[in-house]
Amino acid sequence: MTFKDLGLATPILKALQEEGYTNPTPIQEQAIPILLKGKDLLGVAQTGTGKTAAFGIPILHHLYERISLRQNKRKIKALVVTPTRELAIQIGESFTAYGRHTGLRSTVIFGGVKQGKQVNALRNGIDILVATPGRLLDLMNQGYITFRDLEFVVLDEADQMLDMGFIHDIKKIIAALPPKRQSLFFSATMPKSIVELSRKMLGDFERVTIKPEQATAEKVEQGVYFVSKGNKPKLLIHLLQQRPDDSVLVFSRTKHGANKIVKKLAQDDIRSAAIHGNKSQAARQKALGAFKDGKLKVLVATDIAARGIDVEELSMVVNYDLPNVSETYVHRIGRTGRASASGIALSFCMSEERPYLRDIEKLIKQEVPRLGEHPFMEDAQEEEPTTQRRPQQRSRNANRNRSSSSNYRGQNNKNRNRNKGNRSRGRD
Ligand code: AMP
Repeated sequence: MTFKDLGLATPILKALQEEGYTNPTPIQEQAIPILLKGKDLLGVAQTGTGKTAAFGIPILHHLYERISLRQNKRKIKALVVTPTRELAIQIGESFTAYGRHTGLRSTVIFGGVKQGKQVNALRNGIDILVATPGRLLDLMNQGYITFRDLEFVVLDEADQMLDMGFIHDIKKIIAALPPKRQSLFFSATMPKSIVELSRKMLGDFERVTIKPEQATAEKVEQGVYFVSKGNKPKLLIHLLQQRPDDSVLVFSRTKHGANKIVKKLAQDDIRSAAIHGNKSQAARQKALGAFKDGKLKVLVATDIAARGIDVEELSMVVNYDLPNVSETYVHRIGRTGRASASGIALSFCMSEERPYLRDIEKLIKQEVPRLGEHPFMEDAQEEEPTTQRRPQQRSRNANRNRSSSSNYRGQNNKNRNRNKGNRSRGRD
């Protein structure tokens, strides 16, 4: 299927062609026809699947088709609410890109910066508003935003918004929406609280589910090193020194841990920056900007700060700490393997993290290849829980480590071949 087959307006097709998109991704293929029919949508999908275009394109199409009906000043006709500033900026960029030939205007509002510029943009009139919940409510309360003309509303990354404590803000925003509207609701996971929230927001809806494990298994080469806590910095430095030209995103479970990694790397003359909730918005944007431009090769991030980061040439993700929530692993490794479709995700696993690894493997329904060889192996073996292990288990594991190491190389080739064939298919 091509975008042409979806019956989209010519200016949008032209923009998609300029973006280099030829075929819709699975979520686009399924969601766009539903949305063009005017139905509500529940999308169970994570960032990296192409979901921004899945909702952005049909909204632009509808608004463009009705453009002649528009009178005088532009009024907000579409609203996208998303949890973080980084995501809001990225979504805003997508609307600008896909809508560049439509004459439609969008703006992005988020907290942590002065409101003056954002208020001016709203006063000048816009068609599409992308917002984080806090700043949106704030400007609504100050009377700068009305939803009288709103036709489309998107709640993006709903599970993350709830995790971040936005539930009350979200409920207030939903309460302020006009009843006659097309509603879109996206979440990577669907716990009970999210199902309840989606019921509040959606009318007669259709559901599209893109399973994270599909995205993961298809695209990203994975591997895990068993390494002691004390040797994690050394192993990271070793890996980074082997790939000085690659853009690498390193995940740390804590903000403090992220800062510590940056310091350790600096001791070996590896320049990096940390992004997390304790950093100012300006510092986060600066670090992210330098990383996206390729001026900064290593970015160390916590999960909340990094979710949704979309860097085209991201070569590698390192899970410096394994996450205790398995879905987070999938979110993390989904950051790579997009544009070039040959991403690598390496994980460091110390003995306390082995249960997390088991949970992850259960979720993704595959074994993460063991990468046997690294210069700090001996210490890692000390970390193995040898006391409870029977001798034959030990030898079986040792064998598995060896064969998995060659597996990894085998998988490299397999992926490379597959990627050749897939290159034209897109980079979600
Ligand atoms: P998202 O899941 O919306 O964050 O999108 C992930 C990445 O996929 C972004 O870099 C998009 O520019 C890219 N992308 C989205 N749709 C397509 C497509 N149909 N073909 C190629 N790339 C795409």
